[in-house]
Formats: sequence, structure tokens, C-alpha cells
Amino acid sequence: MVRFIEENTKTMEKEIGNKSNNDVTTTTKNKKQVLQDINNGGGLINSLVDSMRACSPTHLKSLMKQTSWLTEYPSALDMFEEILHASQGKQIVMFLDYDGTLSPIVDDPDRAFMSRKMRRTVKKLANCFPTAIVSGRCREKVYNFVKLTELYYAGSHGMDIKGPEQGSIYMEDSKSLLCQPATEFLPMIDEVCQKLIKQTKLTPGAKVENNKFCVSVHFRRVDENNWSDLANQVRSVMKDYPKLRLCEGRKVLEIRPIIKWDKGKALEFLLESLGYANCADVFPLYIGDDRTDEDAFKILRERRQGLGILVSKFPKETNASYSLQDPDEVMDFLRRLVEWKQLRSGA
Ligand SMILES: [Mg+2]
Repeated sequence: MVRFIEENTKTMEKEIGNKSNNDVTTTTKNKKQVLQDINNGGGLINSLVDSMRACSPTHLKSLMKQTSWLTEYPSALDMFEEILHASQGKQIVMFLDYDGTLSPIVDDPDRAFMSRKMRRTVKKLANCFPTAIVSGRCREKVYNFVKLTELYYAGSHGMDIKGPEQGSIYMEDSKSLLCQPATEFLPMIDEVCQKLIKQTKLTPGAKVENNKFCVSVHFRRVDENNWSDLANQVRSVMKDYPKLRLCEGRKVLEIRPIIKWDKGKALEFLLESLGYANCADVFPLYIGDDRTDEDAFKILRERRQGLGILVSKFPKETNASYSLQDPDEVMDFLRRLVEWKQLRSGA
């Protein structure tokens, strides 16, 4: 386990200058390059603002026609039987993003509550399959939203992983499972967070969130006319921290350590912890709505294992295989999985 972390936490300084192969489209490549330029001190503020604009689902509407997109990424509800067929004889392991997947996206990130129905469904799901929440939020915060002790939690984009408090039927000693590959960055993250709070104070609606191993600057409540100012403010702080990088999410700028660790690595770490490192009989199902979830979708494609489901009402380029429109559809899908498992166990 220690070797797994060591192998995967080498700094990305060399890679920052190179074009990443993570990208799925030219548009995405351009956006990635823009962020790299910002990270490298290029100061292309206007381009960053373009990138922020492109994160907004309403701007993605015109990328592709909804119908042709759904042909490529069909509804996981419509394809439920096919998904079950693909998982036949394998252990399903569930990975769930939180914001926009289990809870609706709301203006105030502190009020992104999940419904009681969703909580009950996730609880039942965890009784059927090993289940992990993988979020950009800090682990404590996402736990306070979900409040289920039987789950695995990977907070701060997977940089803070902990096993279930109750222990797990799937893994001996899961209570002691803890993985924090970016601990050395904690003082730097705190410092940057304080500076960002100070810098962005004059931009109405901007909200800086300390997510322990990363910082989020939410701009969903910021008027689009002020995005350029906000980008400038973030840039002015970032320029002094070459060991941090800037990424984008849904109406949020994420500042993270430049270690080679993301939601995809967290997924691999958890599979290994559960004893499925080199197993062919495991079927990881990852459901998420954000750019940061693409790292996990990509890992699943590379491993040719399980599948990714993107939550989106709008066509988006993705490494997922299927789609669901919103958290309500996610709940329907999870319920059907639980019913299927219970029926099967009963039989
Ligand atoms: Mg999300």
C-alpha cells in the first residue's frame, strides 16, 4: 500500500510543461493549456475567463445535439440490463461523487444537502456493495453532508481517504484505512486559502472554501462581468506558489498540490485496499458530474474494468460510457441496483 502511494505521488513539475494526454477534445486541450499557462505564470487572464465560461453547462449546450450525444452516452437507466450483464460474475464496487451527483448543485455550497431519500438509498447501497464517496470537498465536510458511517470517504479530490467507521464486511480492519498523500502541503494550502480570502473579498459572490488538501474558489454567485477581476485575484496569489496548480470544476476554480494524485488514483487505491488490485472479477461503477471525475472515468477505460456514468443534462465530452441527467436519476439507478441485488440474494 505504501509503495502504491509512493509510486503515485511524484511531483508533476516536469509534466506541467508538457501537454497532458488526459484531454478528450481539442477544446478541452485548449482549456487545459490555458490553465497550464496560468499555472506557469503566463497570466492569460482572458483565457482563464473563457475557461470559466466554458465550465458553465449553459455554454456547453451548443457543443453537440442532445440526441446524438445520448446515442453515444446512453442513459444508464435505459441500459440497466446491459450494465448488469457486463457485471455478471463480478463484484460491483460503487464510487459516487457528491455535489451534482448525490445532491443538487445550489448557489451556496454550504447548503448542498442531500435528500433523506437519497441518504436511505445510499445506505441500502452500501449494504449491498462496497461504496465510496469521492469528492473535491474536504472529507469531514462531505461526511457531514452524507452522515453514513459505513462508507469509504475520499475527500479533497481523493487526497484524504478513510475507511468506514463501523468497519466493513468487505475488508478486514477497514477502520484503520487512511491515505493522505499530500500532508506536506497542508501549511501551504492554509496560507494560500487565507490569501485568497483576502484577495477575493472585493468580488461580490466569490466564496473561498478550504478543503484541507485543496482550496476551492466558487464563482457560481459571481456576476459574469466580474469573472475577469476574480481570475486576476486568483492569479496574483497563485504566482507565488509553483507547487500548486489550478484546475476547473463546475463554476469553481480548484487549487491543488502538483502531486500525481486525483480521483482516478483514489479509485485505484481503494480497489487495491479492498483486495482487487489485479482481479478480473471486479466491476467498479463510478458516477460523477464534474471535470475532476473524468480522471476516474479514464482509469476505468484504461483498465477495461467497470464503467463510468456522467451526470449531465447537457452534452459534454467525457470518458464515461453512460449518462444520467440529474441526482434524481442517480437515485433511481441506485435503487434499481439495490433491488436487483436484494432479489438475487433472496433467490
Ligand atoms: Mg460533482
